[in-house]
Amino acid sequence: MLDYLFSKGMIGSCEIKNRLVVTAMVTNYCDNKGYATERYIRYHEEKAKGGWGLIITEDYAIDAHCMGYECIAGLYNDDQIASHAKLTERIHKYGTKIFAQIYHAGKQQSAKVNGGVQPMAPSAIPCPWCRDLPREMTKADIQTVIHNFGECARRVKEAGFDGIELHAGHGYLLAQFLSPYINKRIDEYGGCLDNRARIVKEVLDAMRAQVGDDFPIMIRFSADEDMPGARDISESRVLAKMFEEWGFDALHVSSGVYGDYNKQIVSPMYVKHAWTVDYAEEIKKIVKIPVITVNRINDPRMADGLIAMGKTDFVGMGRGSLADPELPNKAKAGKLDDIRYCIGCLQGCTGALYEGGPVTCLVNPSVGLEYKCDYSKVDHPKKIAVIGAGPAGLETAIHAARRGHMVTLYEKKDKIGGQFVSAAYPPCKGEFTTFLSWANKQLDKYGVRVLLNTSATVEMIQNGEYDDVVICTGGLPLVPPIKGIDLPHVKYAEDVLTGKVEIGDSCIVAGGGEVGCETAAHLGMIQKQATIVEMKPALMEELDGVSKENLMTVMNRFHVKSFVNTKVLEIKEHSVLVETSNQQIELPCDSVVLAMGYKPNTTLADELESAGIKIHKIAGAVKTSNALIANREGFELGMTL
Ligand code: SF4
Repeated sequence: MLDYLFSKGMIGSCEIKNRLVVTAMVTNYCDNKGYATERYIRYHEEKAKGGWGLIITEDYAIDAHCMGYECIAGLYNDDQIASHAKLTERIHKYGTKIFAQIYHAGKQQSAKVNGGVQPMAPSAIPCPWCRDLPREMTKADIQTVIHNFGECARRVKEAGFDGIELHAGHGYLLAQFLSPYINKRIDEYGGCLDNRARIVKEVLDAMRAQVGDDFPIMIRFSADEDMPGARDISESRVLAKMFEEWGFDALHVSSGVYGDYNKQIVSPMYVKHAWTVDYAEEIKKIVKIPVITVNRINDPRMADGLIAMGKTDFVGMGRGSLADPELPNKAKAGKLDDIRYCIGCLQGCTGALYEGGPVTCLVNPSVGLEYKCDYSKVDHPKKIAVIGAGPAGLETAIHAARRGHMVTLYEKKDKIGGQFVSAAYPPCKGEFTTFLSWANKQLDKYGVRVLLNTSATVEMIQNGEYDDVVICTGGLPLVPPIKGIDLPHVKYAEDVLTGKVEIGDSCIVAGGGEVGCETAAHLGMIQKQATIVEMKPALMEELDGVSKENLMTVMNRFHVKSFVNTKVLEIKEHSVLVETSNQQIELPCDSVVLAMGYKPNTTLADELESAGIKIHKIAGAVKTSNALIANREGFELGMTL
């Protein structure tokens, strides 16, 4: 089983023990001078321990002002080498190889994070996301950049890395030169493809002069930039041949640039698995050097099949490795149901980075905390009650039990998961169930006593003589005082999604946040007519641009209608009276679905406190939050009880 995935592979002179590659993902775990911190090293070490064949690091800055994030790695001065040498030494202990990805962000950066310097680019066109107007590079700038890539390559080798990945994809500086979408130069670095590609050849030559012909250097590039007027696969085929002829040792075939809200460089759950593999396959047909594919591949069997079919030589999983750094070892041991699969939510990874924070992961809250996690058994196991089996309660229970405590988990429903159960029902979100099936397995593995269909009471908790009581009772739906809201055809979104209630053919969804929009999309999918009514000026205000764009596409596909800046005034038997900015309208409907947010459920917490029982209260029981925050709070508490 998985014979292709677990066969050795070569990139240049570097032998790699299997075909599983951790692709580069920005962490923001280094310090703001580009030095590797213990947090950064431990994060990578966990993946090496987990059995990945090759780790490609985040993009190392080649100079002090070229980075798109404040705390990414850098090898732009010799003083930085020692801290990164510690990283390579630790990774090599596990037989894993490690390449440094090196880059210049070009226009895809901002003076806010790069030390206050105006970004530069082949032409003065701003990045739609980063916004700063870049200055057009002079020829002297180009020569400096080429020199800096060469010097950076030398430092990579001196720090003990096994190779280099040159980042010429995703719209960063070298990709900007390659693309007619951004490169409007009319000198020898612009115009025809040979001119646009010239800088890449000169960078490669500068690197080879420093590290020699034997040191593996591969290149990552976007085979299709997926923007109007940008580079497409036809030109990328030509480029791939050029890259091979010039002496790159492998091609990492990716897609996209900043500004593409649709599929995006890091694709959300709305995008098909392995959707860029056809590009890799096309390139593989015309080159002899190895090809790496990537994007929404989260299952080892899927990866194995792609290699078996000859579509790629290696398979990259960036987010798959965040979600479960032990994926290779578990896959090799046949423990596929023990893998914590990436669900494509983007909340903890790109979502956190967009906000300028460090990377994390919704399903794996230990990401970024590896350096302070101690999973050893406690000396004095305690009796712990966890009340509520939503994400926060699950993480608390699993990790407290993992450390040796005796944990009882109370859940009033007939299954674990809380609101995360209904979160799996809307279109494209089925993989959310993988987190709950994983959690079920862990509860079993660590011996948590799970009491389903059990509403915990003060008496039960008193009789249980627990040392610690954790309240994770989550939230209750908000029900505003609207006339008619208690009519029988008014239902909660969660009940509608999970099929607990019947619903008419024509539905008004009150609330246009994420839950309301997803519920409307679900209704559309089952051929109901859904109309959203939202008070705010826009739908899904809390969502990132990529998720919003994709969910909107699904809603359009299922003909969901919406009103924004519109207030529900009254619910009637066959209609809803709403007020827009300039008029009142009566919208006919058979059913009304409430998706108006949540408030903390504090009933049991209040009762326990009144009875003098000391409790820990977390996540939605304290403040309305989301699964990312709930999981993190549960994990942190479970690790410290
Ligand atoms: Fe995957 Fe979501 Fe974790 Fe990102 S936050 S790695 S998309 S599960």
